[in-house]
Amino acid sequence: MREFDVVVVGCGAAGLMSAYELTKRNIPVLIVSRGLGATAMSSGTIDLMGYFPSGVFVENPLDAVGEVAEKYPQHPYGVLGGGFEVDSDERKKNAVLRAREALSEFLSMEIGVKYVGDLNRNVFVSNPLGTLKPTALYQISMRNGVLENLSDKSIHIIGFKGYPDFDASFYAKSLAYFAKILKINLKDVKSMVISLPTFENKHNILAVNIARLLEKEDYLDSFAKTIVNNLKGKHADIIGFPAVLGLENTENIIKRLEEQLGSQVFEIPSLPPSVPGLRLQQKLERAVSQYDGAKIIKGIEVLRIHKRNRKVEKIEISMERRREEIKCSAVVLATGSFIGGGLKEHEGEIVEGIFGLPVCDQKGKFLEGIKILKLLREGLFSKDGHPVFAVGIKVDNMFRPVGLDGTPVYENLFAAGAILSGYNRISEKSGLGIAISTGYFAGNVVANFVR
Ligand SMILES: Cc1cc2nc3c(=O)[nH]c(=O)nc-3n(C[C@H](O)[C@H](O)[C@H](O)COP(=O)(O)OP(=O)(O)OC[C@H]3O[C@@H](n4cnc5c(N)ncnc54)[C@H](O)[C@@H]3O)c2cc1C
Repeated sequence: MREFDVVVVGCGAAGLMSAYELTKRNIPVLIVSRGLGATAMSSGTIDLMGYFPSGVFVENPLDAVGEVAEKYPQHPYGVLGGGFEVDSDERKKNAVLRAREALSEFLSMEIGVKYVGDLNRNVFVSNPLGTLKPTALYQISMRNGVLENLSDKSIHIIGFKGYPDFDASFYAKSLAYFAKILKINLKDVKSMVISLPTFENKHNILAVNIARLLEKEDYLDSFAKTIVNNLKGKHADIIGFPAVLGLENTENIIKRLEEQLGSQVFEIPSLPPSVPGLRLQQKLERAVSQYDGAKIIKGIEVLRIHKRNRKVEKIEISMERRREEIKCSAVVLATGSFIGGGLKEHEGEIVEGIFGLPVCDQKGKFLEGIKILKLLREGLFSKDGHPVFAVGIKVDNMFRPVGLDGTPVYENLFAAGAILSGYNRISEKSGLGIAISTGYFAGNVVANFVR
């Protein structure tokens, strides 16, 4: 039987961040995952806090982490600050400190895609529909497209024939409209659709296939030439593309494009399938794998656990029709929510899929038999979000899942990320901020636990 100090279940941002904290301290860790989750599908920006639970826009995301922690001890940022065990002032202080530490750790990873931004200031980035969302950190390829950086600039948006995930003309009109609402003056927003070299007569081209080809210098040059020819001498201060500008060498690709086009270039964060999301996934996997003692295995489902005296002793996994038991001293549950696969529907109710942990709502009330349909609002795009997206497991201030009696179900089981309850990830815009900061903190707690 194989044995690891720690098994992390889930290889999204939360699981990988906790694994990073362990492996950099030479603690052997096995990361098992069924596949890719929400992290790889994300637009790749790190949203720390876009809107308060009340719906009010957040200007300073790090301050907002503190304010949320102060007011809501059951919110993941509240738990990060010490939860119900400490008073509200201390919770506020701790949460800000720990979130800052976690995000600074993330920013210091000198591997893979580079992130920029300011933890103390939200900016607006657009998505392929041209609508805007607040975020704290973004990939460097998105920098020139941050709304305030587009002010008083002439902009040209490029779409591709046969690439259905982006409508350049729609995006341009929508961006102009939303910029006006936010009182940002765009000098001029034009759009055009070009035929991509190699893909001339293709339909349903995938972003990742364009990204791979753009890694090749010859292709990049003919791509640039096609754009120059189509622009017919018309100059734009900034040229925006859907997020397809390489998987590995985006910074260099942008530099070369800027030289050849004579304009600044930016990428528009995308919807799934998302090249920026894949870049983020790759960055975190590489950061973890650079240390000996970390092993990532994908395509594995954790089927069940074996326990003894309120401790997880072994986990049972299935791999290529084989079953295997793995012994460990601690487990981090980072299986995400519905998209990741950590939460499931069973007979009309929401269940946690591996341990059968009880789930609760945003206020920390256990659901105990409440049906999913009761957690949906009538309007699809309800402004304050559907309560179902705040459902998850409840943890103590060491991020150990608790049962109905409020005590940890297992002494050596910890959790992080979107599996946690107490926040509405869709309406708050705090998804990856919470995954990274709770993953970081859980990793540190587990490191102390196994030592
Ligand atoms: C379309 C989309 C776009 C988004 N864009 C952004 C954004 O731009 N910025 C932002 O901040 N947030 C964004 N979010 C939210 C953010 O992506 C998530 O909150 C965050 O990625 C959650 O990370 P996680 O590690 O908790 O879970 P996930 O990334 O979902 O990872 C869960 C992992 O658990 C594994 N798993 C589940 N069950 C099992 C099992 N039984 N056995 C083994 N493995 C298992 C999965 O395979 C997966 O690897 C977006 C979400 C979506 C859906």
